[in-house]
Amino acid sequence: MDYDVIIIGGGPAGLTAALYASRARMKTLLIESLSVPGQAIVTDSIENYPGFPDGVNGFTLIERFKKQAQIFGTEFKTGDVKKIQGHKDKDCKGWKVEMENKAFTSLSLIIASGARPKKLGVPGEDELRGRGVSYCATCDGALYKDKAVVLVGGGDTAVDEALFLTRFVKKLTLVHRRDRLRATKILQERALANKKIGFAWSSEAVEILGRDKVSGVKVKNVKSGEETDIPCDGVFIFVGYLPNTDFVKGSVRLDREGYIVADDNMNTPEKGIFACGDCRQKLLRQVITACGDGATAAFSAQQYVEEFKGIAYK
Ligand code: NAP
Repeated sequence: MDYDVIIIGGGPAGLTAALYASRARMKTLLIESLSVPGQAIVTDSIENYPGFPDGVNGFTLIERFKKQAQIFGTEFKTGDVKKIQGHKDKDCKGWKVEMENKAFTSLSLIIASGARPKKLGVPGEDELRGRGVSYCATCDGALYKDKAVVLVGGGDTAVDEALFLTRFVKKLTLVHRRDRLRATKILQERALANKKIGFAWSSEAVEILGRDKVSGVKVKNVKSGEETDIPCDGVFIFVGYLPNTDFVKGSVRLDREGYIVADDNMNTPEKGIFACGDCRQKLLRQVITACGDGATAAFSAQQYVEEFKGIAYK
C-alpha cells in the first residue's frame, strides 16, 4: 500500500487527524479539494474556538493547522476524490482512492470531507449565481459596500454572516421563514440590536429577481400568502449544509440526509474506514468538535493499522 492512512478533506477535522496520524509515525497523505472551499476557511472570525479571546480568522487558523501537520510529516495533494473502493494486494487488504488522473492506496481511510451550502432551489438562484447570488460573505461581502442586500436563513451561519456583512452594506434584510431566529442567543441579541439589519419574518424567498444581475428578491409571507418584492443588489443564502459524501455512496453507510454513520470512536461499519467532522452524523458541528473527531479518528486508524501490521502495543 502507498500509505498507512489517507485522509480525505483539509478542514479542521482532516488536518487534526493528519497531525495526530503523522505524529504517531503513520505514513499519512491528506487530499484536499480546491473546488469546494471548507466552511472554516471562509469564516471571517471564529470566536468560540478556545484560546482566541479576540476571535481568529478562519483562513489563518487553517493555515496554522496545516503547518503543524506538515511539520510532523503529512504529505498533501490537491484534487477531488471521485471514488473509493476496497483494494487487495496479495493478502494485504486496504482501500483505493481514485482521483481524476491518479489513484492511491492505503491500509486505512479517514473521511473528513465536510459539507457544502444548501441551495434554496428557487427560480433565478442558479441563473444569477456569481452575479449577485452568493453563499459566502467573506468572499463577496466587500463587493456590496454601501449597497442593499437580502440574506436568507435564521441559523448561526445566517446571523454570523449577516453581522459580518453590516461592515460593508448600507442595509441588510434578513428573510426567515419563522417569526424568531434559530441562532444562538448571543448572535440573536447582536442582530436584533444592529440598526443596519431589518427583518422579513415568517417569509420565504420564492424567486431571485434580475436579468443580468440581481435586482431583488420576491418573498412570500407564509401566514398571509402575500408576496412582496424587496429590491437589492445582492442576495446571500445560508439555509444549512449538505454533506460532501457523494463519492462514498455505496461504500460507506449514510443516513437519510447523506451524513456518514460512525460511532464515538469514528469507526464506520466498514473495517479500516473512519469518518470525522461535518460529514459525520452528529449533534454539534463546530471547529472544536471537528478537531476532537479528527484526533479520535486518527487514534482509531492508528490502532487499526498497528493491529493489522502486528505491531500493536498490548
Ligand atoms: P442550521 O442550523 O441548519 O440553520 C439553517 C437555517 O436555514 C434555519 O434557520 C432554517 O430554518 C433555514 N432554512 C433551511 N432550509 C430553508 C429553506 N429551504 N428556506 C428558508 N430557510 C431555510 O444551519 P447553519 O446555521 O448553517 O448551521 C450549521 C451548523 O453549524 C449548526 O450546528 C450551527 O450551530 C453551526 N454553526 C455555528 C456557528 C457559531 O457557533 N458561531 C456559526 C456557524 C455555524 P428553520 O429554523 O425554520 O429550520
